Amino acid sequence: MPARIAYTAAREIAEHAAREAPKEACGLLAGRSGHISHSLPVRNLAPRPEAQFELDPREELIALKAIDKRGLELLGAYHSHPDAPPIPSGEDIAGAVDDGLLQLILSLDRSAPRLKIWRIGDGRVTPVELIFEDQSALVDDHALSRFQELAVVIAGLASLFILLALALALLPPAPDLSALP
Ligand SMILES: [Zn+2]
Repeated sequence: MPARIAYTAAREIAEHAAREAPKEACGLLAGRSGHISHSLPVRNLAPRPEAQFELDPREELIALKAIDKRGLELLGAYHSHPDAPPIPSGEDIAGAVDDGLLQLILSLDRSAPRLKIWRIGDGRVTPVELIFEDQSALVDDHALSRFQELAVVIAGLASLFILLALALALLPPAPDLSALP
């Protein structure tokens, strides 16, 4: 089953990662029924934060309470790779427990940050399809994406121009005014 993430949550994770670079940023993912709607930053307490992450247990507890208070579910955790692709490292795999939670990794190693989401547990790593949604799409699954809306507008304009061209081509020639008395 694919995971869904709100653009706002993805943007907040990217901003957090950029702020913390060259250290890894980390935090929790929350939402409802598999839709990630919120990201909650947590301090990275790892001894080598440039290459690993470890959630500060005190801040993690505060984030968990905030998730509970908003009536959301804990869906997973995120962290950044400042100069590596968004693929789980050996340490990420060794440190993960198979608890059904999603592991999101954001990479800053290219000009555009890239997000990938995984399930990691028992030494096994499974990629999870990630779908980006805006907040309105979280409310209505059938809402058109911005791109689809644009495509519909362009198609509408194109058919209007074709109709206009046809109408002009079918018009009778202009009357010859010089022939009038
Ligand atoms: Zn990692």
